[in-house]
Amino acid sequence: MAEIKNIAFIGLGIMGKPMAKNLLKAGFHLKVHDLLRPPVDEIVAAGAKGAASSKECAQGVNVVLTMLPDSPDSELVALGLDGVLEGAAAGCTLIDMSSIAPGVSQKIAAACEAKGVDFLDAPVSGGEPGAISGSLAIMVGGKAPVFDRCKPVFEAVGKSYVLCGGYGAGNVTKLANQIIVAANIEAVGEALVLAKKAGLDPNSVFQAIKGGLAGSNVLNAKGPMMIEGNFKPGFRLRLHQKDLNNALLTGKELDVPLPVTALVQQMIGALVNRGKGDDDHSAIANFIEEMAGMRISGK
Ligand code: NAD
Repeated sequence: MAEIKNIAFIGLGIMGKPMAKNLLKAGFHLKVHDLLRPPVDEIVAAGAKGAASSKECAQGVNVVLTMLPDSPDSELVALGLDGVLEGAAAGCTLIDMSSIAPGVSQKIAAACEAKGVDFLDAPVSGGEPGAISGSLAIMVGGKAPVFDRCKPVFEAVGKSYVLCGGYGAGNVTKLANQIIVAANIEAVGEALVLAKKAGLDPNSVFQAIKGGLAGSNVLNAKGPMMIEGNFKPGFRLRLHQKDLNNALLTGKELDVPLPVTALVQQMIGALVNRGKGDDDHSAIANFIEEMAGMRISGK
């Protein structure tokens, strides 16, 4: 395949917009599409071309990247009317970087193969800060030669990229990641509410424990948000709910009990039902705060 020069990017949300900017900075020619106009205008102003549909976006490029919320969105954009597979030529590669159900990645991969289009599922971790700084951790599923060819693309948006297995393996790895993150956030919330109710300053507790065994990227990123009562996303609760739902379904298929995941999924579900779906996932702490009648933030 020719050297990768022309890239399409579809889905310019919290993650996709800064990733698209990093691809421009790395010198790729970029075409972009989103259902919303403002992020398209912003990336066009930064040097990309706009496209009116996913089909149009995929025409004449070497690689199509998608960064969409959920499985139905990836399926629609790849396989639907005016979708990527209507525009992409044989030899093009579709890299879906959305976090979706592994089985849906496999379905998209099969449809791509039937059209001579290569496919990788390549979800990421690192959140909005990692997307802005180009330091995402990328977990990839697919074929080794395709992965090797796409390394320059991963270099432009990530600091690590690992081929984890065949189609869907990137998203299985992402589910493992999301189980660990969810349980960790919930534990940070419990710990800080307990400390506050015992009369301690949560920030002193955070400073005291962050260098010890309880220290983690999650504690460093989410502890201060809970302490400030700042739940601006970041990573929306409803997206973490989606990931845990997919983890539980996968656990059921494989006969693996995921008791802690199920518990945190219920907590997130209750918060989403109370209108908090667009808050950052650090708002998992709100569940414990409400039960304890105590906010981590404030006096
Ligand atoms: P987001 O909701 O901010 O952005 C999604 C974008 O996709 C929106 O701009 C939306 O308009 C666009 N879109 C939806 N359907 C479309 C369609 N049919 N055609 C074109 N555009 C469409 O979501 P996000 O936070 O950027 O997350 C994207 C993916 O990355 C999700 O799967 C999420 O789980 C994953 N992720 C997010 C984070 C994070 O911290 N935000 C971190 C790691 C992974």
